[in-house]
Amino acid sequence: MSRFLSGKFAAIEPYTPGEQPQDRSYIKLNTNENPYPPSPKVFEAIFGGNGGGEKRLAEPGAEIDKLRLYSDPEVRELSEAIAGFYHISPEQVLVGNGSDEILAFAFLAFGDDTKPVRFPAVSYGFYPVFARLFGISAEPAALREDFTIDPADYIGCGRNVVIANPNAPTGIALEPAQIEAIVKSNPDHLVIIDEAYVDFGGESVIPLIDRYDNLMVVQTFSKSRSLAGARLGFAAACREIISDMNKMKFSFNPYNVNRLSILAGTAAMKDRPYFERCTAAIRETREETAAELRRMGFTVLPSKANFLFAKSDRIGGGEYFRQLKERGILVRHWDKPEIRDYVRITVGTPQDMKTLCRVTEELLAERI
Ligand SMILES: *Cc1c(COP(=O)(O)O)cnc(C)c1O
Repeated sequence: MSRFLSGKFAAIEPYTPGEQPQDRSYIKLNTNENPYPPSPKVFEAIFGGNGGGEKRLAEPGAEIDKLRLYSDPEVRELSEAIAGFYHISPEQVLVGNGSDEILAFAFLAFGDDTKPVRFPAVSYGFYPVFARLFGISAEPAALREDFTIDPADYIGCGRNVVIANPNAPTGIALEPAQIEAIVKSNPDHLVIIDEAYVDFGGESVIPLIDRYDNLMVVQTFSKSRSLAGARLGFAAACREIISDMNKMKFSFNPYNVNRLSILAGTAAMKDRPYFERCTAAIRETREETAAELRRMGFTVLPSKANFLFAKSDRIGGGEYFRQLKERGILVRHWDKPEIRDYVRITVGTPQDMKTLCRVTEELLAERI
C-alpha cells in the first residue's frame, strides 16, 4: 500500500477472480467461461460480413479503422438487439462493461449507509466487495442447510436485495413466482436479480419489469454467449431505474462499451439458434457429468447453471482442487467454512468432462 491511498479504502479486501494461468495449459473449469467459441456471426461482424446487423455492409476491417473514433455512448445498436430478444423497449436496457460494472453502478446508485443491502451469505463474491467499496451496510442472509435460499429472508424485508438466480456457486435456482413474491413485498426497495446463469436452465424474470418498478434484472454475455473477454453485461428495468443507472454511467465512463464489443454482442444476441444449441449442449453435458460424479459417490447440488458444486466424503475440497490442478485440471475452491468441502466445476466440452471424471476416478482409487 502506498501512503497515498485514501483511508476509507485501507481495509478493503478486493474480489479475487479465478486464476487465468499463463504458465501451462489446463483444462480450465474454474471461471465458468463457455467452452464453445462465440457465434460465427461474431467473427463475421468483426472481420467482415454483415454480422447479422442489417445496416452494416461487409468491408473487412472497417470497424478497426473506426477505433480512432469513440464508441456510441448510448450503445444503441446492442441495446436494441437485447430489447428485441426480450420484447422490451431499448429504454429499459443499459449495457455495461461486463455485468460487474452494471452491478457497481447499481450499488453506487441505490445504496448508502442508511440504505443497507441484503444478499445470500453464500453467493457471488463481488456483492460484499461493492458494499464495502461504496460504504453500504451489507446484511448477508444464511442459506438453508441444503444450500437453498429461503425466500422468507427477503419477503417484506424492507431492504434493497441482490440475489443471483441461479445462485453461485451452488447453481440452485428460485422459481419466478418466488422472485415475484420478494419483489412484490418490497415495493419501496430495489430488488436486483443477477441472472448471470439463467440461460442454462433457469427462467428469466425480465418479463416482470413492466409490472414492477422496483425490479432490476442483470445479465451477462460472459457465460451463455461465450464473450467473457469482450466484457459485456446489461441491466433491464423500468425507464426510471435505467435513467438513474445512466446518471452513474455518464458521471463515470460515458464510453463504457468499446466498438468491437458492441459489434460482437449485437451479432451474438441476434444469433438465437447458435445460442440455443450451445446452452443445450452445456445442459446435457452438465447432467451427464453430474450423474457420473454421483456414481462415484459425490454429493452434487441440483444445478441450473453451467457449473456443478460437488463434494466427496473421500476427498476434501481443498485436496481435490490441488490434486486436479497437479493433473492439469483447474476448478474453483473456496476456503470458507460453509463450503470448504465443495469444489465448483465449470461444465466444459464432453471431452473435458470425460477427462475430469477419469482423473477423479484415478484419484479416488489411489486413496483406498
Ligand atoms: C460471472 C458473473 C458475473 C460477472 O459477469 P461479467 O459480465 O463477466 O462481469 C456477475 N454475477 C455473477 C453471479 C457471475 O457469476
